[in-house]
Amino acid sequence: MMSYVHEVINDVVEKNPSEPEFHQAVKEVLLTIEPVLKKHPEYRKVKILERIVEPERQIIFRVPWIDDRGEVQINKGYRVGFNSAIGPYKGGLRLHRSVNLSIVKFLGFEQIFKNSLTGFPIGAGKGGSDFDPENKSDTEVMKFCQSFMTELYRHIGADTDVPAGDLGTGTREIGYLFGQYKRIKNVCEGVLTGKGLSYGGSLGRKEATGYGLVYFMEMLLKDYEKSIEGSRVVVSGAGNVALYAMEKVRQMGGTVVAVSDDSGMVYNPAGVDIDAIKKAKEFERIKISDYAASMKQGEFFSDYRELWKVPCDIALPCATQNEMDEESAKALVSSGCKAVGEGANMPCTPEAIRILQENGLLFAPSKAANAGGVATSALEMAQNSMRYSWTFDEVDNRLKKIMSNIYRNAKEAAVYYDKPNNLIAGANIAGFVKVAEAMLAQGVV
Ligand code: NDP
Repeated sequence: MMSYVHEVINDVVEKNPSEPEFHQAVKEVLLTIEPVLKKHPEYRKVKILERIVEPERQIIFRVPWIDDRGEVQINKGYRVGFNSAIGPYKGGLRLHRSVNLSIVKFLGFEQIFKNSLTGFPIGAGKGGSDFDPENKSDTEVMKFCQSFMTELYRHIGADTDVPAGDLGTGTREIGYLFGQYKRIKNVCEGVLTGKGLSYGGSLGRKEATGYGLVYFMEMLLKDYEKSIEGSRVVVSGAGNVALYAMEKVRQMGGTVVAVSDDSGMVYNPAGVDIDAIKKAKEFERIKISDYAASMKQGEFFSDYRELWKVPCDIALPCATQNEMDEESAKALVSSGCKAVGEGANMPCTPEAIRILQENGLLFAPSKAANAGGVATSALEMAQNSMRYSWTFDEVDNRLKKIMSNIYRNAKEAAVYYDKPNNLIAGANIAGFVKVAEAMLAQGVV
């Protein structure tokens, strides 16, 4: 007979056809929380599981704008409010040509458990558009953002839904979105996080996801008598998460030996030039391939997958979903890697995770390991409500404590439910129980 959890998974697949990323995220969570459902039959009685896999609301809208040549362009806009049991919807806006409903829903679903793990009262949402800021002028990005917000503004608010950045959405895009919201709504409130420092942003937010990932890895490594210090690290992606993970690895005495973006990867066993790469990606907005053309030391490979073949101790996939497949995981095992920490959301396929686990690599799942970004967004919301700003050190110290609590809670939940050393199960369980209890308390809504 089919188990209850498998029945719910099958139902999700049937009701949401052509959404493979969403199916993958649902399966990964539901299959690990079975022991909780056995212990809490009351959850099944009020259909917590059937409700948690269904977004509370999904908004899809047209985003028309005019490009620099005077041509009309049309993109699709999305905002999914997945779960507000523990607070207002919170989660980023992704701007990338690959964005579709399946990707927005997988990210929104994962956000439920991640946000719960942070310990803050924030629910889960996600959104974005198939608009790609790459190769667009500042004016085009601004026009797109203004048009996007002209529809989105009516669905969001500081106590309803607070979007943030994500892949393709940095401080520039958040600035244009915030300006348009304020203009239409006639209210200056903390409706977005990841804002610039001069208009309500938080010190430490830009660094938080990457730094938090490295803090988390250090705690995990320490439990196995290892450390970032003296380790060789490879990092995929060269965006917000990756750049600050690299910076923190260096501060903690590790060496980043390879880094990639979607144009290729650079490798230098003595350590890549983090400052030069940061300048190239963050300020000049150029590709790794262009940077490599004038690079003084190291090698360039035009296939970014070569990264996983580089000899290393730690791998931090920080680019995008499913970037590490079975073959890449096998390459990592052969290259002597001892630990993998997910900086991106769901960067490892289920097959890759199986290979890493079978070969005894330490594994830090994204829901826990990259939660520092959204946690610091919650700190930004708190500062906005108080009309107050904390120093960088205050924010960073809070981030360290938050990451330590997340690590401890995930580890303890794994032990309690008889899955010691399995942080995937531990993070899912710890995140789920809090939301399930809140849903139970609030009745069938
Ligand atoms: P960015 O847009 O700042 O950076 C993404 C980077 O990944 C870019 O450099 C891009 O290359 C590169 N890239 C894309 N696909 C590949 C690939 N297959 N292989 C190698 N590099 C690739 O995004 P973020 O850093 O903000 O986000 C990265 C991931 O982290 C996403 O999964 C996001 O959801 C997740 N995340 C982000 C948080 C945040 O605070 N920003 C918080 C939690 C999770 P190029 O520059 O050439 O386009």
